[in-house]
Amino acid sequence: MAMVETAAAAPLGLLAELTHRCPLRCPYCSNPLELSRASSELEAATWGRIFHEAAELGVLQVHLSGGEPTARRDLPDILRHAFTAGLYTNLITSGVLTDAARFEALVAAGLDHVQLSVQDAEPGSADRIGGLAGGHAKKLAFAEMVRASGLPLTLNAVVHRQNLERLPDLIELALTLGAGRLEVAHVQYYGWGFRNRAALLPTRAQLEAATATVQEARARLKGRLVIDYVVPDYYAQRPKPCMGGWGRQFIAVSPTGRALPCHAAEGLSGFDFPDLRVTSLRDAWEHSEAFNRFRGTAWMPEPCRGCDRAEQDWGGCRCQAFALTGDAAATDPACALSPNHGLLDLAVREASAATDAFSYREMGRLTTAVAK
Ligand code: SF4
Ligand code: SF4
Repeated sequence: MAMVETAAAAPLGLLAELTHRCPLRCPYCSNPLELSRASSELEAATWGRIFHEAAELGVLQVHLSGGEPTARRDLPDILRHAFTAGLYTNLITSGVLTDAARFEALVAAGLDHVQLSVQDAEPGSADRIGGLAGGHAKKLAFAEMVRASGLPLTLNAVVHRQNLERLPDLIELALTLGAGRLEVAHVQYYGWGFRNRAALLPTRAQLEAATATVQEARARLKGRLVIDYVVPDYYAQRPKPCMGGWGRQFIAVSPTGRALPCHAAEGLSGFDFPDLRVTSLRDAWEHSEAFNRFRGTAWMPEPCRGCDRAEQDWGGCRCQAFALTGDAAATDPACALSPNHGLLDLAVREASAATDAFSYREMGRLTTAVAK
């Protein structure tokens, strides 16, 4: 494919996936199906170089994520690099590996914000979904550490058919833990989520009830709790502007140093994503074929080409198009104008007949089916 260079504004944020290692095994994990080993992870000094290049490019915030970023013993060094680069640092964590001494070291290294994930509000269900006995209790203890430190806390709840009925409890949990923000994110169905779609996809009634719950809570808790809400596309008529458009606002870096337009893009085949061990972040962002391939609207097929929403939703999600059709350049089937829109109805029908058994995310081994 010919290289197309398009002027690119600076990305707003950088997602640094420091490792794929994680003690949890969520069946919707956004990591790729093929997980990277510890031996192939970037060293702290290389992350430092990337953070300085990011700041020069205009990035203001870095999200330190994984896998579980605290699985890296050198996380304080990595954080210090981000701090000296002048970036605002957000730690996205499951909270189960951090004791008081380690948390203190992170705060001393310049941590600005913590985003803690929970799998459910009910401990038994949370531990089952995360695949770690006692994990939920550790998360609550970690949240208490964050609260005592005075750092701002966001609670992140990934929701699906098996925990949606406790959405009101998740909102209460956010308040109890002292979070200023709650992100209620429906599972996005690519990668591990796609593999477990039949067990996780909510019904339309569940989705509508969840949306009403969020709307009611937003009004009731105005000034106390900000609630972000990400919906699944399976009942939509038009897709979301995924990542604000490919290569427009966001850059992710994989544990092995691949620059990606979206954290899920590593699962796409036919791409040579820039290797930041040998390429600068600016070069990757501005000049790589992978970042330029879906920038703008010139790449779009029918019916996106000429559509008046082309510069609003940018044709939807490339990873979802690939997961559903095998073609990353197709119109996202979430759009009712897509010739593949019927695939979503099929998936909803399949999910309505499926059990709650799912496969855990595993390193190396791929399937461990569990039922409630
Ligand atoms: S989604 Fe679950 S398994 Fe994946 S990185 Fe987060 S906590 Fe770990
Ligand atoms: S046809 Fe393409 S641009 Fe138009 S609404 Fe659907 S996905 Fe968006």
